[in-house]
Amino acid sequence: MKTHLYLGAAAAALLLAACDPAADAPMPAPQAEQTDVNGAAEAAAANPLLAEWDTPHGAPPFSEIQPEHFIPAFEAAMETHRAEVDAIASNPDAPTFENTMLAMELAGADLGRISRVFGNLTSSASNDALDAVQAEMSPRLARHSSAITLNADLFARIDALHQNAEELGLSPQQARLVEVYHENFVRSGAQLEGDDRERFAEIRSELAGLYTRFAQNERRDSELWTLPLSDEDLAQLPSDIASTARAAGQARDLDTPVITLSRSSVEPFLQQSPNRAQREAAWRAFYNRGNNNNEFDNKDNIRTILSLRLELANLLGFETFAHFRTAGTMAGTPVAAIALMEQVWEPARARAYEEQADIEALMAADGVEDDVMGWDWRYYTERVRADRYDLDEDEVRAYLDLENMIAAQFYVAERLFGVRFTERFDVDTYHPDVRVWEMTNAGGEHLGLFYGDYFARQGKRSGAWMSSFRPQNGITGDTPIIINNCNYNKPDDGEPALISFTDATTLFHEFGHGLHGLLSNTEFPSLAGTSVDRDFVEFPAQVYEHWLAQPEVLERFALHYETGEPMPRELLERVLEAQNFNEGFRTVEFLNSGFVDMGYHLETNPGAIDVEAFETEVLTRYGSPQAIPMRHRSTHFLHSFAGEGYSAGYYSYMWAGVLDNDGFDAFLEAGDIFDPETASRLYDVYSSGNTIPAMDNYINFRGREPSVEPLLRNRGFIEAEG
Ligand SMILES: [Zn+2]
Repeated sequence: MKTHLYLGAAAAALLLAACDPAADAPMPAPQAEQTDVNGAAEAAAANPLLAEWDTPHGAPPFSEIQPEHFIPAFEAAMETHRAEVDAIASNPDAPTFENTMLAMELAGADLGRISRVFGNLTSSASNDALDAVQAEMSPRLARHSSAITLNADLFARIDALHQNAEELGLSPQQARLVEVYHENFVRSGAQLEGDDRERFAEIRSELAGLYTRFAQNERRDSELWTLPLSDEDLAQLPSDIASTARAAGQARDLDTPVITLSRSSVEPFLQQSPNRAQREAAWRAFYNRGNNNNEFDNKDNIRTILSLRLELANLLGFETFAHFRTAGTMAGTPVAAIALMEQVWEPARARAYEEQADIEALMAADGVEDDVMGWDWRYYTERVRADRYDLDEDEVRAYLDLENMIAAQFYVAERLFGVRFTERFDVDTYHPDVRVWEMTNAGGEHLGLFYGDYFARQGKRSGAWMSSFRPQNGITGDTPIIINNCNYNKPDDGEPALISFTDATTLFHEFGHGLHGLLSNTEFPSLAGTSVDRDFVEFPAQVYEHWLAQPEVLERFALHYETGEPMPRELLERVLEAQNFNEGFRTVEFLNSGFVDMGYHLETNPGAIDVEAFETEVLTRYGSPQAIPMRHRSTHFLHSFAGEGYSAGYYSYMWAGVLDNDGFDAFLEAGDIFDPETASRLYDVYSSGNTIPAMDNYINFRGREPSVEPLLRNRGFIEAEG
């Protein structure tokens, strides 16, 4: 998060790093008053992106915005921003906090606003026209950003403030802002000289283009593949998979139902289809996205990206890109990140082999004479699950109506933090499925807007994530505008959206990120919300998942969609017991990706990497079970290669897993999942953004450093004490 400051906001919003949430630029760009430079005023008249948004709470006027508005708006906004930055850098007065830091925080308001709208549209509602704008603009925005971080006069002012920070009488947040800017400038090459400076800017620009291409390749290659289903195939599948397949076929103007490579289509199919050959075909297609030696193949991109990243890290004096990325995070070094993953690896792998033995027994009973393969795991796991917990996914889904789960996520926020959510129907959106709520305090005072875009569709990338249209801004008083995206299957008209327990967990996860943005209460936008270390940013999201799994919440909101009856207690208990089921597989597939991600970024000759051989080498070295692939294989590993947010940082989810399990224990120890005192300390975590270092933030909440034990216990890898 710390790599892109200021403009970073724009560039990061554009590149929307990873699949997961907080892919948003934590670099809240300032919302200042618009400063017109030549021509900007006229352009604004015709271009809604440059106009004042006279809308409820300044929400983007989507129905007025067309793809052709973006390039001229970006150009005008970059020009304005450049002029603002030049004025700061060339100010004849000695640098002060106000004339340098505060001025920087206020600069680039339009660019930040436009970038956020654009970044969200290209993620959630893209099309050829927006793809083309993105391909053109991402390197230009990266160059714009570099020109600021490499502005020597500007850096000299920031450096002077940094060196004299003690004598300036700054408030703690002001001092933190100086510290954060300084570090970001240094990490962005501000101290480089001569040819190195130019080379650095070139690399940044080239990487930005490559990240865009990587993500576009993943999406386009995925869209090439479908698996047509016959009536006979459909008859063997649960009704929700069949109806999703019919809708997917219709959306593509095909005359047959199809399975697609959207995770929400292919994963349920792999779990439920008894047809082993079709499962194999779907599995292979899913794990070979971006690896088909066609125009959308990402293997060359990976080598180029890794080579450029290594060069960039070396320019800054780091041994490898992994060292560069982990410096200044909670983990601090690649060694510490790997050590954490290795602490979890052995118990997870042992559990995975136990799970595999169960699968082997069922396959033998089915007369399948073959090793357990990747395409067998999910299918037989579901049967083991059914045997062991007698859990029928459809039976569980009947109690998990998306509408009620949304109400549940709001309820938990109300109980913990005293905030209320009310749906608004007067706010413009970019698609009819998008919904908007207003967050207020108990007294009805406006605190922010929250958008929910929950259904999969073409033009929307896979996964689930949180992003923002406007960060909280303590200078201007702007309230946050936050969005959650998911990819649930849209039900037929008039039908409820029934989701799985995993989907409901994702909903809570993203809403945890959402609250990190919504509850933000900092003095400066660059320190607001999710602008924290990457290995801390998952904590507010992952800890929030724990409330869904509490009987107190489920009894109230897991209501049968037809009868309104609460989920029977014994079903609820089985659902919760089943939570650790298959945890060996899940942890191993995650760690497979985590080890490979870190491995790539420790390589010192990445241009020579054979991508597939590299994956195999790492997984073999760790003795990973052959039936468990990487959760994200390299050629579609958006976390690692579509941006820098999670590059050499995929481990962050595990790091945050330590924090969330240990953190939720604070409520259990208090004997109340809504314990007001603990909730008040948790509010401080959500509201304080990056105003204090992450470890200090955690210790303030928990009273001590985090422990790995609760994670191992909650995943069932070790026995609970007492
Ligand atoms: Zn997340």
